[in-house]
Amino acid sequence: MLFIYFHGMIIKYAEYTASYVDVKKCPEAKLPEFSFIGRSNVGKSSLINSLCGRKALSKVSKTPGKTQTINFFDINHRFNLVDLPGYGFAKKSKTQRDQWDNMIRNYILHREQLRYVALLIDARIPPQQSDLDFCNWMGKNNVPFIILFTKSDKPGSREVITNTQNFNNRLLENWTALPPSFITSAVSNYGRESVLDFIHQAVEEYYQGGDRLSL
Ligand code: GDP
Repeated sequence: MLFIYFHGMIIKYAEYTASYVDVKKCPEAKLPEFSFIGRSNVGKSSLINSLCGRKALSKVSKTPGKTQTINFFDINHRFNLVDLPGYGFAKKSKTQRDQWDNMIRNYILHREQLRYVALLIDARIPPQQSDLDFCNWMGKNNVPFIILFTKSDKPGSREVITNTQNFNNRLLENWTALPPSFITSAVSNYGRESVLDFIHQAVEEYYQGGDRLSL
């Protein structure tokens, strides 16, 4: 008989459950949460689909910034993947931006189940002030987060290396240590296993070693 040891997480179940506009209305779920955020058009929907191995789990929107809801996905009945609305969409009105600000601050600072925020950064463009500001805000508030550099279809290219290094260097102007970061592509699935391994470990830590085989 052949035994195959799989290191990491197999996603057997991934389903959209619900959307909320108000963090107070979010369910009192016992599952830990892993939340995804980034500027509109950063490739968030595509990466969520790639990580979960589903083509259209998170709808790839053609109108960036349109949805302002907190979207929940149940993964393996083991943790919730939470898709947060994007920031930095130029066409948003001040009222929309204030609403976003309120929603995100409330969710990130007060959501008990939140284990990690995954901040998505486009590896094809130079560091953006809005991304740096968001990192610094999370750092100041002791929010555990990881960085997922997106759209790295050519991970070893000069463009990706320069942009990611420049981003890290900008962070090091304010911080002495960098958060864990991963280079990813939703097109080639590059980085997928490493990100899933990280999530798997974080979820396992949450459950403190119980029921290890069910993910
Ligand atoms: P969202 O607004 O952050 O959810 O971004 P989407 O997932 O809708 O993607 C925005 C655009 O970037 C779309 O045109 C995608 O096809 C494209 N995109 C997303 N991920 C990748 C990637 O890994 N590589 C490339 N080349 N394009 C991507």
